[in-house]
Amino acid sequence: MSDILELARTKVLTQGIGLDKEEILQVLQLEETRISELLDLAHQVRLRWCGEEVEVEGIVSLKTGGCPEDCHFCSQSGLFESPVRSAWLDIQGLIEAAKQTQKSGATEFCIVAAVKGPDERLMSQLEQAVAAIKAEVEIEVAASVGILTQEQVDRLKAAGVHRYNHNLETARSYFPKVVTTHTWESRRDTLKMVAESGMEVCSGGILGMGESLEQRAEFAIELAELNPTEVPINFLDPRPGTPFADYEVMDSKDALRAVGAFRLALPRTMLRFAGGRELTLGDLGTEQGLLGGINAVIVGNYLTTLGRPMEQDLDMLDRLRLPIKVLNSSI
Ligand code: SF4
Repeated sequence: MSDILELARTKVLTQGIGLDKEEILQVLQLEETRISELLDLAHQVRLRWCGEEVEVEGIVSLKTGGCPEDCHFCSQSGLFESPVRSAWLDIQGLIEAAKQTQKSGATEFCIVAAVKGPDERLMSQLEQAVAAIKAEVEIEVAASVGILTQEQVDRLKAAGVHRYNHNLETARSYFPKVVTTHTWESRRDTLKMVAESGMEVCSGGILGMGESLEQRAEFAIELAELNPTEVPINFLDPRPGTPFADYEVMDSKDALRAVGAFRLALPRTMLRFAGGRELTLGDLGTEQGLLGGINAVIVGNYLTTLGRPMEQDLDMLDRLRLPIKVLNSSI
């Protein structure tokens, strides 16, 4: 059997073809002494197939907490004893958040709501908010409001939402251990409709929820099959009150192996560091990730956990000499 990183150099770096499941598994099992070699290759792959720019995104929560679903990692579920209270943000608040995000140099602004799927109230709020933001702020607007019907997909597209986030969260084979109130397939069906509508597909998930390495490899392949524009990678941040509260934080070396492996599975996709990276990787690991296949970040605070000050992230990109994507180049 040829060396996995040599194989990846030819297949992924030279030919732009993502690794298959067995190959991803080998990367996830790579010995510790070769992690830096893996990250170096992953960085070369992202420079070759995605370019050198890093996309910066801000997110804001339109409706927080009180969700009827039972995703075991999520402190916004109304079914657990979680500290997140149900709250709505008004349209003026969303516009202000978009302006702040734009000032940071971000090109993406994602409006998120903790729901199974949007009801009419949420849909019309979203439509109004997107119109108001597009009229006042120069930024791309994305949305993440759960499982959609075809009619809702069409309305969001017509409203000017350019990218839709809906995470598969984990491997299909592991999903029933994480969520019991809806199916993995319902998530994938929404993503298929989104792709067909012409909106960009953003779908990722959370690593370190007790899935096996085989399931982690399976998850990478399932994401690759969606041909997503973006894959946000979260690492479990065990939240008090949730069923996963007592889970251990993912080992940082496994997290770096996963970053490298996902880049080798998805050579052309934007890979975004999302939640949990501070806890799992710290500053040093975050920098290794950004020079190891990651090419997008979320700045500022996350939905239910504090990230860190926006300036710190932007300074880090500057220090690493990673140019931030500007809007003109994306239009
Ligand atoms: S992940 Fe989304 S759908 Fe699941 S409980 Fe949290 S807010 Fe609800």
